[in-house]
Amino acid sequence: MKSSLFPYSKATFHGIENHVLNAAANPESLSEFLTICASSSAVAFTAIFSDDYFSTAFVPVTAKFCTPKGDRCTRWWCTCNKQSRSSLARIQVAAYLFTCETGGKLSTFMVPIDPDLPFECSATLEDRWDAIRKVILSSDVPDLDPRKPKAVTFSTIRSILPLHSYFSGGAGRQRQLISQSIFDIQLASFLVVPNTAVDEGTYEFDEIWEHFGGVDERKEKTGLPLDASDEMRSLDEAIDNLRLCLALRSTLSLKLKEQNLEDSFYQLESPIAFLLASIECSGIGFLPTRLTNMETRLDEKIGSIAAIVQGFSSDPDFNIRSPRQIAKLLFTDLNIPKPASNPYTSQKKKTDQISTGVEVLLSVKGAHEVVPLLLEYRKLNKVKTTYISSLTSFCVGGAGDMTKIYPVWHTLRTRTGRLSCSKPNMQNIPNKAIFEGVHPRDAFVAGKSETLFSVDYRQIEIRILAHFTQDHALMKLFRDSENDIYKSMSMRITGKKSISDVTGNERAIAKQVVLAVVYGMGAPQVAKKLGVEISAAATFFNNFFAGFPGVRRWMQSVKRFAVNNGYILTITGRRRWLPDIRSENREKSARAGRQAVNSVIQGSSADLVKLAMIKVASNLEMWNNSGEKAPELLLQIHDELVFSLPETRVHVERLKKLVERCLCLEVVRDLRIQVALLVTCKVGKSFGDAMVDYIE
Ligand SMILES: [Zn+2]
Repeated sequence: MKSSLFPYSKATFHGIENHVLNAAANPESLSEFLTICASSSAVAFTAIFSDDYFSTAFVPVTAKFCTPKGDRCTRWWCTCNKQSRSSLARIQVAAYLFTCETGGKLSTFMVPIDPDLPFECSATLEDRWDAIRKVILSSDVPDLDPRKPKAVTFSTIRSILPLHSYFSGGAGRQRQLISQSIFDIQLASFLVVPNTAVDEGTYEFDEIWEHFGGVDERKEKTGLPLDASDEMRSLDEAIDNLRLCLALRSTLSLKLKEQNLEDSFYQLESPIAFLLASIECSGIGFLPTRLTNMETRLDEKIGSIAAIVQGFSSDPDFNIRSPRQIAKLLFTDLNIPKPASNPYTSQKKKTDQISTGVEVLLSVKGAHEVVPLLLEYRKLNKVKTTYISSLTSFCVGGAGDMTKIYPVWHTLRTRTGRLSCSKPNMQNIPNKAIFEGVHPRDAFVAGKSETLFSVDYRQIEIRILAHFTQDHALMKLFRDSENDIYKSMSMRITGKKSISDVTGNERAIAKQVVLAVVYGMGAPQVAKKLGVEISAAATFFNNFFAGFPGVRRWMQSVKRFAVNNGYILTITGRRRWLPDIRSENREKSARAGRQAVNSVIQGSSADLVKLAMIKVASNLEMWNNSGEKAPELLLQIHDELVFSLPETRVHVERLKKLVERCLCLEVVRDLRIQVALLVTCKVGKSFGDAMVDYIE
């Protein structure tokens, strides 16, 4: 694994003994290191990687170094599509670095791992890894107060991936799935920072330090000679950052306490970050050939649509991709009346060019048979570029046979607290076939003699809405759970006597309005979705609120709370700050009001799924400890969890019982949810069409 590209010599690390102690020099020094860590109140740590930069987990998350046209790049921290963060799990770790405070004095230890480092280490490699794990997981302190984790790191996932990888790589070694023992600086900052200089979604170390620590305390960098190597410079910076991490831990843990966020942080967010490292380490099976076949089918279909559209044009050089030529075809050659200005926006186009965007096409959809074809053409092209052509670039391993894709998971990117995913965004891949034989999810597959298993909450947001609003009519709908929920809702709104009298259109309206409440959409957006006038949409809202008066009362109380406090609270007490809620600008404050409602529902559903994941993972850990390999959690797609496991009835049934107990009973009990939660379980060899309802 280690290349000789970076030959380390003793000269590279000249003077290192003045900065760092080698904990692995011999078995005695290793046990002394453990004793010192055990007696100190906090230990900051980072992994150091064997690249030419000697990079650490502090590398900015936005750092990029390669060009799009080169080969797969080698630096784990590159943000290009060819590099996934889970590659951290497979590259050589140079060492782990620890800084702890004992008796008012800071000491920094290194536990070298890379055999090419020029340090004498007589402690065995196995013992070194065990020591690293002991300190990070504080496993030498059995009755550790979970509110005072000792290990502090800048980014749990980055520092834990190599550890996970080592402990999943062989006989007798087993990766831990759940831990509350790590204080993650990035995560804590995310929870306590309302909306500040800390850039949304990146939370680089320097920004966090500037915000919470202040620049003054930053050490003058005079400790190194001018001719120090790059490795020594990187090491020096890491040591400095670890010292700052210890200071940040004190500041941030105080803020967590002040804002009543300790439970969210220690019991929900920290264990989730640890678990996500394991999920990233697992990846998911992927069949590139299956995707190539889909691409071929899609190309054929796109080509045939283009040919038919071409037939309507008199221009032999007609280009379906040119908006100008499409406009000429529609509004000149075919004489379709030009649409009036866009009814949903007040913006006026400055140029004479008539837009042929999707909205315009939709507004003249019935005018000519070519328009639906153009819409179909656009849709299929989008599917191709967004979901099909790009997916293969993420796979790791050779082509042809099954490879793996290791999506990157994020806890800091959505303000509602939902997990998000990139490279690729698995949550965004369509959950239905585009047309016969083209279902991008079908390229994601189970391994040999394994099966995929998914468990999905049913109408989770609307159930949470019922829980919060305590609206009797809404809660009753979920008690009589056999009926189609949206039809029942429409029955209540329209006053119809029988569910069979509810029309498809009435059901669609009820569904759209309740989802609009949940997702914070206003009447204009609903009007657009349903293709009706804004006034009609406003009437739908009023009718809905008349049928479910508790919903409106609750929405008003959430908005009042947000105005009074500047934030809202989720079911677990996590805050979402809403800076615009008191804005003088009515449009802004109205939007913030809708966000307030949306954040309570979405944020609570995010909390709920996270809690479910933690419960499931703890159970899987026990399953592993019983000596049998447990199913692996591979994905979280909003309210759905996906696992891989051996393809036997015994395994599937055991997992089904486990997830139903965790998701439907324990979560409901712990969060005191007053509406029943239901799930659907599916099994299949691939993630798309092959997934079928699992019936015992
Ligand atoms: Zn790159």
